[in-house]
Amino acid sequence: MKILVINSGSSSIKYQLFNMEQEEVLAKGLVERIGIDGSCLEQEASTGEVIELETEIADHAAGMELVIESLTDENKGVITGVDEVNAVGHRVVQGGKSFSESVIVDEEVKEEIEKWSNLAPLHNPPNLMGIEVCEKLMPHAQQVAVFDTAFHQTMPKEAYTYGLPYEYYEKYALRRYGFHGTSHKFVAQAVAQELEKDLEELKVITCHLGNGASITAVKNGQSYDTSMGLTPLEGLVMGTRCGDLDPAAIPFIMEQEDLSPAEIDNLMNQESGLLGLSGVSSDMRDIEQAAEAGNERAVLALDVFSYRVKKYIGSYVAAMNGVDAVVFTAGIGENGIGIRESICQDLEHLGIKLDSAKNDVRGKVQEISADDSQVKVFVVPTNEELVIARDTEELIG
Ligand code: AMP
Repeated sequence: MKILVINSGSSSIKYQLFNMEQEEVLAKGLVERIGIDGSCLEQEASTGEVIELETEIADHAAGMELVIESLTDENKGVITGVDEVNAVGHRVVQGGKSFSESVIVDEEVKEEIEKWSNLAPLHNPPNLMGIEVCEKLMPHAQQVAVFDTAFHQTMPKEAYTYGLPYEYYEKYALRRYGFHGTSHKFVAQAVAQELEKDLEELKVITCHLGNGASITAVKNGQSYDTSMGLTPLEGLVMGTRCGDLDPAAIPFIMEQEDLSPAEIDNLMNQESGLLGLSGVSSDMRDIEQAAEAGNERAVLALDVFSYRVKKYIGSYVAAMNGVDAVVFTAGIGENGIGIRESICQDLEHLGIKLDSAKNDVRGKVQEISADDSQVKVFVVPTNEELVIARDTEELIG
């Protein structure tokens, strides 16, 4: 069975075509700058063949047509016709309270995705657009929606409820939802496999540390709490997002700087985090380099980042009454040797102790805890596309 996985953003389409027999990626690619100058497609096939196109791509429909042309390209493609694609799995960011698992797309599902757009105005509309374009271009293939929020629908009320007047929950479904669900689920399952235990028997803390970052307490196989909230802004300090702060700071800055709601939203999402703290970059590698060269604000950004993760780990040990394993994933989690070291420093009282030699690893599954560490610590590369492909395969049977 061949499954196409689509992540459709406001001006981009990321895709991977899987052959599910071996769970092998036949080709992956990216369409960028849709609707703006310099739009392009890049595709790499498992054969090593690369397609690079720079051409006008007016909208998502044109972008998807180009994806299909590239996948079926006579010389550099990987399939002979689009009818070889059995199903399409779509990443959808916000499923709200409506979806606790992946679903086959029908009219009702599309209406729900549209309904939850008010909580994810930058993500759900392009996700939905990707679905609708694929329905038109591949009418033979079933479409499946896989939600970032679904895994976290098991959170108990006390974890997802804000201390705001209850009527806002009733009126606007204003509560914590959590994101990166597919990644947290994938790495938690991988850890259970490494430990040769059932995930249902384990308490795992999953640290997804990428440009966007979140941390989840996975108790007995279910998400028990997670750091992102109503939107992906809450929680950890991220590349350009501030994460947790005193909500009173928001009206204060708005008044002092004469900012509109849209402007403060942009400030907290695009100009804060590692970028805002360091003044150097949102990219962890640049910050580490600047810190090494003695840039004090870069050092501060590193310290704030690690300290916030450490605090969340401690709070999730308390929330779950213990922890069996901690896992690091995504760009920083998989590669940030120094960051992992500083997060885990002085956590011996929680039973967490790293082995520096084992921790000297990037981008592969490895246990990195010391032999006498009560809690096992792992690095596991995430693979959200594979989770989407697996869910899609399972649903269409
Ligand atoms: P992601 O969003 O998962 O692609 O992760 C992007 C983040 O991972 C960026 O902040 C990168 O700087 C960071 N990253 C990638 N490679 C490394 C590395 N070798 N050391 C530290 N951070 C890294």
